[in-house]
Order: sequence, then C-alpha cells, then structure tokens
Amino acid sequence: MSGGKLWNSAVIRMAMPRLGELLLVSFFINLLAVGVPVFVLQVYDRVVFQGGVTTLQGLVIGIVLVLGFDFFLRLTRARFFQTVAANNDAVLAGQLFEKLYRLPLRVLESKELWYWQSLFQDAVLIRNVLSGATAALVIDLPFALLFLLIVLYIAPPLGWVIGGALLLFLFLAIAAERMIHGRAATERRVVQRRDTLLADLMAKRDTVKLLAASTAWKKKWAEEHSRVIDASLGRGRITDNYRILSQSMTLLFTVVITTVGALAILEQNLTIGALIAANMLGSRMIAPMVQMVEHWRVIAQFRQAVNRLEKFQQMEEDHSGPCIDIPVDKGRYTLRDVHFAYGEEDDAVINGLEGNIGPGGLHVLMGRNGSGKSTLLKLLSGFYLPLQGKMLLDDADLRQFTPEQLHQAIGFLPQRPELFRGTIHSNIVVAADGVSDDAVIESAQAAQLHQFVVELPDGYQTQVGEDNRGVSGGVVQRIALARAMLNKPLVLLLDEPTSNLDRESESALVNVLKRYAESHTVIVATHSPAFLNAADSILVLETGKVALAGAAGAVLERMGWLRQTPQGPVGH
Ligand code: ATP
Ligand code: MG
Repeated sequence: MSGGKLWNSAVIRMAMPRLGELLLVSFFINLLAVGVPVFVLQVYDRVVFQGGVTTLQGLVIGIVLVLGFDFFLRLTRARFFQTVAANNDAVLAGQLFEKLYRLPLRVLESKELWYWQSLFQDAVLIRNVLSGATAALVIDLPFALLFLLIVLYIAPPLGWVIGGALLLFLFLAIAAERMIHGRAATERRVVQRRDTLLADLMAKRDTVKLLAASTAWKKKWAEEHSRVIDASLGRGRITDNYRILSQSMTLLFTVVITTVGALAILEQNLTIGALIAANMLGSRMIAPMVQMVEHWRVIAQFRQAVNRLEKFQQMEEDHSGPCIDIPVDKGRYTLRDVHFAYGEEDDAVINGLEGNIGPGGLHVLMGRNGSGKSTLLKLLSGFYLPLQGKMLLDDADLRQFTPEQLHQAIGFLPQRPELFRGTIHSNIVVAADGVSDDAVIESAQAAQLHQFVVELPDGYQTQVGEDNRGVSGGVVQRIALARAMLNKPLVLLLDEPTSNLDRESESALVNVLKRYAESHTVIVATHSPAFLNAADSILVLETGKVALAGAAGAVLERMGWLRQTPQGPVGH
C-alpha cells in the first residue's frame, strides 16, 4: 500500500476529524522547543559577555513560563492521542464485529481461525500506534523544516551544514525503512505460523497424546520457533546497524558543526551563543530521524494492519433482507436448478437440483459420503446461497429473508455440533431472548435430553467446557438438537442427528420427529434404518445430483430395500 493510499483509508479517516487540532497543538509544542536554544543564545551573547544580570532575570522568568506552557501542551497532546485512539478502537472493534456478523458462511469458512482473530489484534495494534510515541514522532517530523529556518536566521553560516545533515539522516531513515518493511511482514508471518501450530496442538491435545505424537510435534514446533527467532534476529540486526550508525553520525554531526561554527566565530560571522543554539536545534531536528529507525517496524506493522482491515471491510456481505416482513408459515421449499460450489474455481458440489420439499412431512436425504447432503442442508437453511438457480421458501427467494427471520423459521442441527462454554441451559437457549423454562424443557424432552439432564446433580446448570468437554458425544448431539428445536421452528434441518445416539433414544427421537412432521417440515440427512422406515419421502444424492427421489416406499423399493415391518429386517 502506498503512503497516499494509507491516508485515504477509511480506518485512518476515523481519526482524522481532529487532525487539525492535533497539528495545531504540535505546532505550538515545536515552536516552544525553540525556547531553550533562544534562551541559551541570549544568555551567552547578552548576559555572559555583557554582564546583564537584569536581562538574565527576565530571561529566566520567560523561559520558566515557556517550559510550563510546553509541559501543559505536551500533556494535552498525550491525552488527545489517547482519546483519538480509544474512540477509534471502540468504533473499529464495533465495525469489525458487525462486519463479521454480515459475512456469508462461505466466506467465514474460507479463511482459517487465526485470520479472523488477527483482525482484532490489528485493531489493537492500530490503537496502540495512534496513541503511542510513534504517532507523536511522525507528527513532529515535518517541524524539522521549521528548525532549519530558525537556524538559517540565527546562524546563517551553519545553515548548509545542518541542511546537509538533515538530508543525510533522511536518506538513512528511508534506507532503513526499505530494509525493515519487508522483514516486518515476514516476521509477522512466521510468528503467526508458530502460534497457529501451537493453537492447533493445544486444541487437539487429546489426539496428539493418543497418537503418542509428541516427539514429531516437538520437532515441528522447534522448527517453527527457530524461524521466528531467525526473523526477529535478522530484523534486530538491521535495526541495530542503523541505530548505531545514526548515533555515531549524530556525534560526528556535533564535531562538524562545532568546527565549522568555530571557524565562523573566528571570522566574526557567528556568535558563541548562536553556535550553541544552532547545535541544540540541529540535534533536535536529527533526533526524530534517528528514533524513526526504532519505529519503522511498528510503522510497517501499522500499515499492514490498516491494509488488512481495509481488505476485510471490502469483503462481500450477506443478503440484508427485505424492508417488509414476508411471512414464513407453510415450510415449503422449491428448488429451481440450484448450483453451489465452495470456491470460485471449485467443482460444483450441488449440481442443478430441482423439486419441491414440504410443506410438512419427514424427508430423508441419503447419499454417499461427500455427495453433498450437508451442503444441501446448509443451502436450505440459508447459510449458503446458490451460485446459480433459485431456492424458494414459501414462494419467496431465501435472499428475501433476514438472518433473524430465517433463524426463527428454521432449526438447524449441524453434523458436528459444537457447544459454547457455559451451562447446558445457556447452550440450548444461546442468544434467544425471553425463552421460558417450559419451552426449554419441551425442546429438551423432544431431543431426548431432559431425563438425562434432570438426573445430573446440577441439572440444567451443569457446566460444559470448550470443545464439548465434560459431556459425552451423544449428549452434545442432544443439546444441539434441543437448541435446534427450541421454539418449534417451522422447518427442522437435521444433519445426521442420531450418529451418536443409542438405538433406544434414536427410535424415541424418530417417533417425536414423525409427530412433529405432521405440522412442520423436517429434513434429515441420515442413513439410519429407523429414519428410512419412518420417512415420507427420500432423496438420494450422488455428487450433487438427484439419483433417486420420491415417496419413501417407492425409493426404497428401487434401491432394493424392504420397508421395515415392526421387527423385521431392513434390507438384504
Ligand atoms: P458426509 O456423508 O461425509 O457427511 P456429505 O454428503 O454431507 O458427506 P458434504 O459435506 O456436503 O457431503 O460435502 C460435499 C463436498 O463438498 C465434498 O466433496 C467436500 O469435500 C466438499 N466440502 C464440504 N465442505 C466444504 C468446505 N467448507 N469447503 C470446501 N469444500 C467443502
Ligand atoms: Mg455431511
């Protein structure tokens, strides 16, 4: 990203409204910085050589006032930086969260966890830079020109020395930036790789332990970590080189300026006071450029963070829904030539599906692993939108509904349900407001969960941990099922709901769903004989296309399956 583009960035613009004030305060701070050199100049030239004690008194009073004012202004500016940054942080974090919420699931799934987390780290980094020493340094840089003008006025013979030094240091600072910018990006990348590995290892600690794979992982970890050390050493070395070089050059600068100044004094072109004052101003000009070397990494990170947030802000968003409420009251799906693929260049996972589902009834989706059952359920839920074709719910395009409307009308049980850290109760209710205990119990009963929960010592207040720790696989599935059935949605989409249930609970659940399906649309991806037996219709998918579809009896017959009699066999 070029500098110009950086300043055009919306992220930066948020801090802009008060940039004018900031520049004004900075201007005065820098103007007051001239106070001490001028004081020294006057003391040497007027007091020391002319014995003007009264002048000295006046000068001391004046400079104390100036310093007091300077103190006050600096304090103001620091507060100002803090306020700008805090405002910015609040706005930015809010925007990030809102944007995340509006992203389609397909986009959310297309990037790894660390990417989404790093966006929030970027926001923190931006705040820290805007409120910290780096921002003050950058703002002060242009005032070097002001000092140069003053030097040209009070000590003209030294003007070219200081001007030349300024150019030299500027050149050094730019060279350092060139060297450090790329390295800062590399460093971030390797740190991220190492942290992702660590997070992955920790998240899958059970498997790592089970596979006795710690030696192999240790090696991998050591490799990633040594990359981080290399990158940071490499960057540190460059920073050190430039810093030490600039420090030596600063000393050299003092020697040169004193020498040239001494010659000018001998030729009566300069006073001692002017020499000392020019020396002070020169150092004041050069100091920020020397410090810049230390700050380039932060600046590079800042630019990259702004860049990433800009890209994030430009990501495509979910449908935002209609301005009028379209009722969903039947639960009837119409599919018209629906196509879907995960990536732009990927093969179609759903390939021209046509047909109607519902209203009402228990419908089973079958098909080999990878045939697109889960994908189709996510399309029906509105999580994914068809890339081509139409998906209608009660005769309206799914895009017409807001996520909230869809959530209310459709209960969804994913294939791999996940719990949040909290109680069983909070995991059923999740974000829903004002859910009565009766409703929670009713959905838990339907999900075959209630009896299990009330036998626990803490009942619905039982804590469950991250990664579904603390509860068995079957119970996770039942909690998620209760979550999906809460408030009796018109449509229930269940992805392998009984993969972790025992037979008894399975047949109880099938009975519940069968009854539910009399007045609601229930679509289940499953191979369970109990479901096939109870289904009203069956759709068999094969690589995203309909292989077979129709009334359950007919489909099963075509597949060579026998419809199960109460205790009889399911197939042959
Ligand atoms: P299973 O019986 O194993 O649950 P499925 O019928 O539910 O399989 P899907 O999960 O819908 O199959 O997957 C269909 C195809 O889409 C597979 O080829 C899979 O690799 C691919 N796929 C699924 N999820 C994603 C994803 N998030 N990103 C990219 N490809 C995906
Ligand atoms: Mg699946």
